[in-house]
Amino acid sequence: MNRTQHCNELRPEHAGQTVTLVGWVHSRRDLGGVLFIDLRDREGRTQTVFDPADLSKEVFETATHLHSESVIQLTGQVRLRPAGTENSKIPTGRVEVLVKELVVLNNAAVLPFPVDDPEVANKVNEELRLQYRYLDLRRPEMIRNLRLRSKVAIATRSYMDGQGFLEVETPTLFKSTPEGAREFLVPNRREAGTFYALPQSPQQFKQILMVSGVERYFQLARCYRDEDLRADRQPEFTQVDIEMSFIDREDIYSLIEGLLKRVWKTALDVDIPTPFRRISFEEALNRWGIDKPDTRFGMELVDFTEDFRASSFKVFSGAIANGGVVKALNAKGLAGATQGQIETMTEYAKSFGAKGLAFIKVENGEWKSPIVKFFSEAEKAALTAKLNIEQGDLILFAADQWLNACEILGKIRLYCADVLKAQGKLVIDPKQFNFLWVIEFPLLGFDREMNRWYSSHHPFTAPVAEDIPLLKTDPKKVRGQHYDIVVNGVELGGGSIRIHQPDVQKTIFEDLLQIPPDETQSRFGYMLEAFKYGAPPHGGIALGFDRLCAILCGTTSIRDVIAFPKTAKGVCLMTESPSPVTARQLRDLHIEVKAAPKKDQPGAPAQA
Ligand code: ASP
Repeated sequence: MNRTQHCNELRPEHAGQTVTLVGWVHSRRDLGGVLFIDLRDREGRTQTVFDPADLSKEVFETATHLHSESVIQLTGQVRLRPAGTENSKIPTGRVEVLVKELVVLNNAAVLPFPVDDPEVANKVNEELRLQYRYLDLRRPEMIRNLRLRSKVAIATRSYMDGQGFLEVETPTLFKSTPEGAREFLVPNRREAGTFYALPQSPQQFKQILMVSGVERYFQLARCYRDEDLRADRQPEFTQVDIEMSFIDREDIYSLIEGLLKRVWKTALDVDIPTPFRRISFEEALNRWGIDKPDTRFGMELVDFTEDFRASSFKVFSGAIANGGVVKALNAKGLAGATQGQIETMTEYAKSFGAKGLAFIKVENGEWKSPIVKFFSEAEKAALTAKLNIEQGDLILFAADQWLNACEILGKIRLYCADVLKAQGKLVIDPKQFNFLWVIEFPLLGFDREMNRWYSSHHPFTAPVAEDIPLLKTDPKKVRGQHYDIVVNGVELGGGSIRIHQPDVQKTIFEDLLQIPPDETQSRFGYMLEAFKYGAPPHGGIALGFDRLCAILCGTTSIRDVIAFPKTAKGVCLMTESPSPVTARQLRDLHIEVKAAPKKDQPGAPAQA
């Protein structure tokens, strides 16, 4: 087509030129017989004018009947907008095109929701937007998100290439490795009862690539997890997946710091300072009550175990006698918390098995709380000093085993921050990005129900070298060479230095995770075998690419940065997948379905 410019390009210096533009009818206004159409393409908008004095009756008639979002081509003359009618909000706001010719390339039917309303995302329910995703994607914010995602992908590739990495694609038809999240299975037509699985991550292939001598691998890898979806999860998502040989943790830190520096500069023109702060898992829990701390605001947790060890308040001293701790935080300015807000926080505490929530409201010169009468003067003085207690504060306590106490207050801290933000008492600069590494995670956690250890990260993570002897004597104390990268309270990714010695790997599988030897063989045999033939020391990391893009776009939902996302139920509302298949397809796959989908669900057959 003979388009001469995009719709964002015309400026006063084009006045007098004849131009041809193509695009969608964004909006129309009829002003005293003269018709104004804002024409939009991917790049922007231009105001065009249909004046009956300049046009054939037929063309003018056609223009009058154009529906929003019809696709047109028009040719006309650029002119300056009359003084006082300029629009400083758009780059083409000082000019307009006086239309001479119009070609209707396609008419649009009446729309299910207006595309030109900047408030669509707030007004129209998301399900409707997902059903008509192609219309939703026409909105400038969504195009901006796709553009930014594309830029970030290209910047990532270019940076990794510059660092000597090879982009290698690994299979998405993989073997079932039933640990961690539930997998999507793909039946094998050629052998009844056998299945592929869609990979949860390319973990095993990337480690094998190190055995192959690739040395530096990366991939923008599609991964699949069949989990019940939480607010910002998707059953399929993208990771920037990385693995390197002959390195240690420091190499990973500096590689990723360099990558994120490049990405932030490219996407937002923001210089992020490096190196990033490092915080041990223990410190993260102790101070922020979570392993992905948001350090943009205070309200840190403070320990009072020693102050209350001999307290006459038995809830505290009893917890301490049981090997627990007492911790507290000061929600500054929240003494006016409503009953409902206190109940929400109490529910958090209860969800961790606590009986209730102890708190003090500091109002009208008084400490209002039924527990204060049990406190000694020394205990009160310790609280005042360490928590800097002032009028208007709300003090919240947790007395429990260490991890529980930290996590309870960690959740409450984030909740209080949300309340304070909504009240305008806590203001966070949207351009502030607090990056940090969380390190020194415990290698293993203990599953009481199953009475066995489980890997905190995954079973390929190497223990910190000096802790290896503890694997046999005190596994709880073994730290893993695992690291998470966190920004503003969001876990952007994680990885580890791997075990590359087959005997250590076998000990982890069989002695600690208690996977029976035959199962170890059937699930991981090929990996243990590969490691026998010269596996270099190696390590890697994966960053959640969707989440990365969401942070850069300033949105809280990864659906906003995925072209065709699924709902929380894993449904694509546009294509109505998942959907039933024919009896013949099932027969070919040797599958018999016992329960048919409910009729009213998307994807149910149209006929009975
Ligand atoms: N494969 C890991 C994950 O998906 C990341 C890694 O260890 O590199 O979480």
